[in-house]
Amino acid sequence: MEEIRLEHTAGAYSSAGIHPWWLEEITPEEIAGLKVHVESLARAGRLWGIGETGFDRTYPEFIDLQKELFDWHLNLAESLNLPLVIHNVRSGSDFLEVLKKVKPTIPWIFHDFRGNQELVQALLKLHPACFFSFGLSLDNSPQVRELLPLIPMENIFLETDNQKHLDIHDIFLRAAETLKVDVEFLKAQIWHNFKKLRPDLQ
Ligand SMILES: [Zn+2]
Repeated sequence: MEEIRLEHTAGAYSSAGIHPWWLEEITPEEIAGLKVHVESLARAGRLWGIGETGFDRTYPEFIDLQKELFDWHLNLAESLNLPLVIHNVRSGSDFLEVLKKVKPTIPWIFHDFRGNQELVQALLKLHPACFFSFGLSLDNSPQVRELLPLIPMENIFLETDNQKHLDIHDIFLRAAETLKVDVEFLKAQIWHNFKKLRPDLQ
């Protein structure tokens, strides 16, 4: 539960949520306690965003609970106008289903995105403030390298996914090479994208 334990570091931007992977291990009482904790951090202005939350179809037995918790995170993020950080494993259609029912006003950031171009287009059509973040996959997934240049650059982020052996500078270099742009240009673009997510912090 690293994200919860992170709490707030001075000068750092934090996000907190109940990760879909935890559902295997935690009790309904613990979920209730985590909800109170996340909500109080968020309401105290100590969070930059809400999540990770989302769907992971490698755990189909928890999909109903994942849905219930996704709705909870989404409503909290909407009520406080905070970006939502999304975990997505083989569950593009689950997000499309949500977007057919609700019209979010907050940014959705799909971290470590591994979907295809059709999914990107379908998501952006329903919710133009969808962002797609990439990291290690730029090295180990040819599909991701093919996809990256097809996404509007204003909808892209880069990440290490908190993996200590990864250096964000290397990921920027890799992405710049894949996009055939100058790395300084890419840094400026991503900084611009980042600032847009929380206009209230300007
Ligand atoms: Zn994740």
